[in-house]
Amino acid sequence: MITLPLLLAFFAEPNWTEVENYALDLLQKYIRIQSINPPADAREAAEFFERELRSAGLEPRRLVSDAATGKINLLVRLPGRDRAKKPLLLLNHFDVVPVDRAAWGAIDPFGGQIKDGYIWGRGALDMKGIGIMHLVSLITLKKLGVTPSRDIVMLTTPDEETNGTYGIVWMANNHFREIDAEYVLDEGGMGTREVFSPGKLVFGVAVGEKQVAWVRIRAKGTAGHASQPIPDNANERLLRAVTRALDAPAQGKPNAVVEEMRRNLGGSLADNKYINAIQKNTLSLTTLRAGVGDPPKVNVIPSNSEATIDCRLLPGVNAQEFVSEMRARINDPQVAVELISDPNDPGASRHDTPLFAAIRAAILKYHPGAAVTPILVPHGTDSVKLRRKGLLAYGLTPMILDLATAGTMHSDQERIPVDEFKKGVRIMYEVLKSDF
Ligand SMILES: [Zn+2]
Repeated sequence: MITLPLLLAFFAEPNWTEVENYALDLLQKYIRIQSINPPADAREAAEFFERELRSAGLEPRRLVSDAATGKINLLVRLPGRDRAKKPLLLLNHFDVVPVDRAAWGAIDPFGGQIKDGYIWGRGALDMKGIGIMHLVSLITLKKLGVTPSRDIVMLTTPDEETNGTYGIVWMANNHFREIDAEYVLDEGGMGTREVFSPGKLVFGVAVGEKQVAWVRIRAKGTAGHASQPIPDNANERLLRAVTRALDAPAQGKPNAVVEEMRRNLGGSLADNKYINAIQKNTLSLTTLRAGVGDPPKVNVIPSNSEATIDCRLLPGVNAQEFVSEMRARINDPQVAVELISDPNDPGASRHDTPLFAAIRAAILKYHPGAAVTPILVPHGTDSVKLRRKGLLAYGLTPMILDLATAGTMHSDQERIPVDEFKKGVRIMYEVLKSDF
């Protein structure tokens, strides 16, 4: 028997002008809420989401990780047809990074202004725009009586920008049952004509990320008067060690996701720092600390000297082995090489899934001719914490962005194109109402 909700799922089409205007209005209001992290006080933003969800007949729940400072996780569930399947989790965050007001010029970073075809403000890109796409899609499904193919749960966290201690980490440690899902849609990826393959419209959907492997290198030597050079100089030892550390050999095996990207894009990838970073293990020398006194004395040879290298490893690379090889390359018993982060690699999420197919179909409906491909992202995201728990996480930003616009994330004059935002709402809705 075909039930009424099922029929509606096939026939009901939202009044798109109304939905798009509603979404744009909400995004303007959301940007005006200064949910800056620190301090990541989410009270006003959570109330704002609750109001909209409740007026659509949904029942949001607060999971408060720290009441005194307003650390609120907001959770809402729209029941689906097949309750036996694990849900889809929509993951977004209330918080935004601080602003350098002077660098925004005439634009108010918390004005939510629409000008020259863009909506401007802190968080437009990271990630209030996508948060509103999630929210409005959910509300639209509910209002039209469209029952999704499985439960959809939306989680909005208060502190993604400071590692998620009170957000995703706290939820995973204390309320995992409420967010245990088969799939996650998070930020990451995007549509672009520049980044992946010049001149070709490509939507990258993030299925994995590089592992964060921070390495500290410490050299020991003998202190002394700089007027009388000695071979046991910690700084000189460190310089030799860092030079050898950075001279890492290229790893042999290409990454499967990168190989698939290459195939999907017709054989070649663009040459830029983003694409270079996702094809190999990378090392960036980030800190150097040495010297005695502040300001450090020029005439003193110090006994200690240290450096850190931010290494980002491809999924599947063993971080401990990577560091052991670095130690062997340095080959100096007076130099200590330690891994100071916990990469805990979950690998990339598989994408031979009905949800990935639904994402591809939804993008192609609005952008026929685009290439849709799984990608790796070079930086860390909250998705990794859920991949470690076995969830399949995809980073979906359903908007075409040019490099200048994409570059405003965490920077000045953050913005997104209004037309792309509106189209993004439609694509997100299309994904959520699909069968997956
Ligand atoms: Zn973000």
